[in-house]
Amino acid sequence: MQSSQSPARADRRGARSSSAGVSAITGSSSRAPASRSFRSNNNEAGENRRFGRPAPRGGRVSLPSDARRSDGREVISGRNGRVKQFIDPKRFVQEATIAEKAEYIPQHDFSDFAVHPRILENIRAKGYEKPSPIQDKTIPLVLEGRDVVGIANTGTGKTAAFSLPMINDLIRNMEHRCLIMAPTRELAQQIQEEILAFSKNTGIRTALLIGGASMNIQVRDLKRSPRIIIGTPGRIKDHLQQKTLSLSTISFAVLDEFDRMLDMGFIRDITSIFALMPKQRQTLFFSATVDDKIESQIRNFARDPVTVSVKEGVTADSVKQDVVFFRQKEEKIDLLHDLLISDGRGKTIIFDDTKRLVEKLGRELVARGFRVDQIHGNKSQAQRSRAIKRLKTNEIDILVATDVAARGIDVSDISHVINYSQPSTYDDYVHRIGRTGRAGKTGRAFTFVQK
Ligand code: AMP
Repeated sequence: MQSSQSPARADRRGARSSSAGVSAITGSSSRAPASRSFRSNNNEAGENRRFGRPAPRGGRVSLPSDARRSDGREVISGRNGRVKQFIDPKRFVQEATIAEKAEYIPQHDFSDFAVHPRILENIRAKGYEKPSPIQDKTIPLVLEGRDVVGIANTGTGKTAAFSLPMINDLIRNMEHRCLIMAPTRELAQQIQEEILAFSKNTGIRTALLIGGASMNIQVRDLKRSPRIIIGTPGRIKDHLQQKTLSLSTISFAVLDEFDRMLDMGFIRDITSIFALMPKQRQTLFFSATVDDKIESQIRNFARDPVTVSVKEGVTADSVKQDVVFFRQKEEKIDLLHDLLISDGRGKTIIFDDTKRLVEKLGRELVARGFRVDQIHGNKSQAQRSRAIKRLKTNEIDILVATDVAARGIDVSDISHVINYSQPSTYDDYVHRIGRTGRAGKTGRAFTFVQK
C-alpha cells in the first residue's frame, strides 16, 4: 500500500499522524507539504486561487468539462450513467447572511396554543423557549383541524410543528390514531425520538416501522395498540400486506419531506397506503419545495389545504458556501485533506456519489488518521444508527454519506458540509447543506468543482 502512494499522499499521512491539532488550510502549517498549500490565497491577484475563491462579479466561472460536453449544457452525466443537472458553480458560492437578518418575532408563545398542559411541560423540558416560524404559523391551523402544506427547509422545526397539535388531538380524542411517513429510516427514527419527548407522561404509545429492523419487534409493537405509527412507505406497505397493520382508524396523517419521497419513487406505495385510510382525516404535508407536480399529488390526498411557507431564498442562508476547484481527480483527496485540517472545522459530513465511493473515501480518510464512519444504502439499519450516534457523541467527527442515507440526519453541531462530488440537482444541494448552519449557528459548505 505504502509504496504505491504518491509522495504527497505519504507526506500527508505523516503530517496528519504527527499533528496534534488542526492546521490552517492556507498553507500556514509547516507540516503540510508546500505543494499542497493554498499559497495562492495570499496572491493578491487571486488568479490561481482554488479554494476560498470569491464569487465572480459578473465574470464567468469555467464550466466543468462534463458540462461543456453535454447536450445543451444543461445536463452532465454522473457516475453509473446517472443523469446530473448542470449547476452553475456560481450557485455554490454564497456568504452566510443569517447574522444580518432581523430576528424572527413569533406571533405566539407556546402557552398561547390551546394544547394540553402536559405538552407545554414537555416543550419546556426540551428547552424550547419560543416557536420557530414554521411552528408559529402551522400549529394554530392544525389545531383548527385544517389540512396544511408546510414549505420549509430542513432544520426549521417541522417535527414539532406537526407533532404538538397531533399529540394534543390524540390526548383529547381517545379513538384517534396517527400515521407519519418519512422518506428514510433515519428521519423516521428521529421523528419518533422527538415524539417520545413531546408525548412524555401522556401514555401514548408509538411504533416505528422501518426497513432493516426486525419485523417481529414491529409486529409486537403493533399489537400493543400504538396510537402513533411512524415509518417509511416500503415497510408500512409490508405490514399492510402481511395484515399486521390496519389503517382503518387513522384520523391524522403526516407526510414529511414529501418532495423527497416523490424523488425516491414512493408515490405508488403512498397512493396505496392512502387508499386504506379513512377519507375523514386531517392530512399534513411538509416539503422543502412544492412545484406543480408535487402540488397535484397533494391535491389527490388533502382536503382544501392551507399552504404555509417559511422558506427564505433558495439556499440555507446560514451557510457560508464556497467551491474547491480541482483539475485532476487525483488532486481531490489532498485538497480534501487540507480542508479537513483547516482551522475551525468541527463535525463534518462529506457527500459522495455512490455506495462504493463512500466506502472507498471513508477507508482512505481513516488511513490518513481521521475519525470517520460511513453511511449508505448497503449498511444495515443498526450500522447507520451507530454511525450517527458516534457522530453525536464525538467518537468520530466525519461522516461520509450518500444523499439518501444522509436524509434526516439531525446532528445539531455540524460545522462543515463537503460535496466531494456534486449533487444531482440544486435541490439536493440545498438538502445537503441544510445539515449545517442549524440552530442559529453559521455553517460552511464546500463543493468540489472541476476546472
Ligand atoms: P426539525 O426541523 O424538526 O428537524 O428540527 C431541527 C432542530 O431544531 C431539532 O434539533 C429540534 O429539536 C430543534 N428545534 C425545533 N424547534 C425548536 C424551538 N422552537 N426551539 C429550539 N429548538 C428547536
